[in-house]
Amino acid sequence: MFIDEYISSVAPVKGKILIVDDQVVNIKILHQLLQNDYDIYMARDGHQAIDMCKKINPDMVLLDIEMPILNGFDVCAHLKNDPATQDIAVIFISGHFDEEKEVKGFNLGAVDFIHKPINPVITKARVKNQLMLKSQSDLLRSIALLDGLTGVANRRKFEQVLPVSWLQGCREQQPLTIILLDIDFFKLFNDTYGHTEGDACLRKVAQKIQDTVNRPYDLVARFGGEEFICILPNTDLTGGTYVAQQIVDSIISLKIAHKTSQVSSFVTISAGVSTIVPTRDIPEKRLIEAADKQLYLAKERGRNRVLGAQVVIKDSVIV
Ligand code: GH3
Ligand code: MG
Ligand code: MG
Ligand code: MG
Repeated sequence: MFIDEYISSVAPVKGKILIVDDQVVNIKILHQLLQNDYDIYMARDGHQAIDMCKKINPDMVLLDIEMPILNGFDVCAHLKNDPATQDIAVIFISGHFDEEKEVKGFNLGAVDFIHKPINPVITKARVKNQLMLKSQSDLLRSIALLDGLTGVANRRKFEQVLPVSWLQGCREQQPLTIILLDIDFFKLFNDTYGHTEGDACLRKVAQKIQDTVNRPYDLVARFGGEEFICILPNTDLTGGTYVAQQIVDSIISLKIAHKTSQVSSFVTISAGVSTIVPTRDIPEKRLIEAADKQLYLAKERGRNRVLGAQVVIKDSVIV
């Protein structure tokens, strides 16, 4: 049900294609052939191609092999080695059929070869087919990182994003905050209203958290059963505590009846916040452990509240 909704909400977009060739005339031919159906970008050398891939994240690169300095194989290897560009479909445009070169290209991760002089019908068909495959695998990749019940990111996605945010915090020496959230007396909720109502409650709570956390680089993920986790890059403890309080307030204001809760007649949530200016020698799990400790204290002190702590490092040790 949810996956269906998700798939139909993903609007078809015009594919983005980067054409890379050192000869302008070759770029022109491909551009003319494809411009009506796709968004076309162009690069004249390998370095420019790599830079543009990072900037515009095309779906496909039509890549000339023979180019001075950085040839097509080098560019392809570079793209496939970088997680940010590895999913771009690479089609080599080669001067003539050469079995050895094709083997090398496929081994580097290319999806197809087109030979010059290009045949318009064959080229269009190959581009279309590969773009269709690319959009299908993009969709599968994004579904695999979503929680099936609530529609927010899943634990796997969280585990992918945290190291990236951590490294960014190291580089920029900026604080990184996480918020660990746990619904109060949720076992009693299930016991009182049943599991189906419990699932519906989890969906509403997840959606509310997602709506409350809204900077582009923030992440909300389902961490486990009735626990959620937020990553807030470039956010200090004051900012993180403020967001956590907004979440706690927004959940009680949903007014989801919970007659067996010992803190309120409505569903509530507790939050533990931890902030660190990350360094490379401290494992990321320390930040989660610190948030978990704060969450435990929030539960102990009456639930429906936020507690937070700054993680301080001295001589590579957390104090
Ligand atoms: P506390 O306030 O201390 O957090 O109490 P609690 O009852 O929320 O905590 P506890 O860890 O004892 O229980 C968590 C409950 O969450 C147990 C389980 O029934 C429920 N739960 C976990 N995952 C799901 C789910 O996917 N659907 C539903 N309906 N319930 C779930
Ligand atoms: Mg060339
Ligand atoms: Mg729990
Ligand atoms: Mg709980």
